[in-house]
Amino acid sequence: MHAFPCGTLPLDFVGTLRARRNAAPAEKLASPQQLDAWFVEAGMFDSAPGADETDLESAVALRESIYSLVAARLAGRPMPPRAMSEVNKHAAGLPVTLCLHADGATRTGSVAQGLAALARETVEILGGADAALLRECARPECTQVYLDRSRGHRREWCAMKTCGNRVKAASYRARRHSATRA
Ligand SMILES: [Zn+2]
Repeated sequence: MHAFPCGTLPLDFVGTLRARRNAAPAEKLASPQQLDAWFVEAGMFDSAPGADETDLESAVALRESIYSLVAARLAGRPMPPRAMSEVNKHAAGLPVTLCLHADGATRTGSVAQGLAALARETVEILGGADAALLRECARPECTQVYLDRSRGHRREWCAMKTCGNRVKAASYRARRHSATRA
């Protein structure tokens, strides 16, 4: 199962490489099947787009380009031109195929179409007002980046359920430990 805590799909996509700064980050897109599952769980497609190894390579390359743009933005550095052209190349692709039926709608297409949608949303975030809402999770090991849409912009964690509670439990243990020793 993939996780979608970031408030926008391109950032959830970036989060498929967990714990980026660790010596051994966790790769959640290790096979074309995992990429297919990501698209379906994200709600982008009704059924698996049928990813192959080439699709996986291009998805991971786009993911890393999105990350380097986001990381540059967070650090206040200029965005790397090569990553920008990679994202722009995908953003110019065909959109996901939406089809209206008597009883609803279907969303289908290729991996390239899914990547185009992610690239376009990336352009909208980084090229618009939402760029100011980018935050990195306060649990240093996590490295997840999300959009802080909370009132007053005080959201600290990618997800309270995972990172927030983990940090709180650790600081509770630390406090209790120093209290016992005092
Ligand atoms: Zn986190």
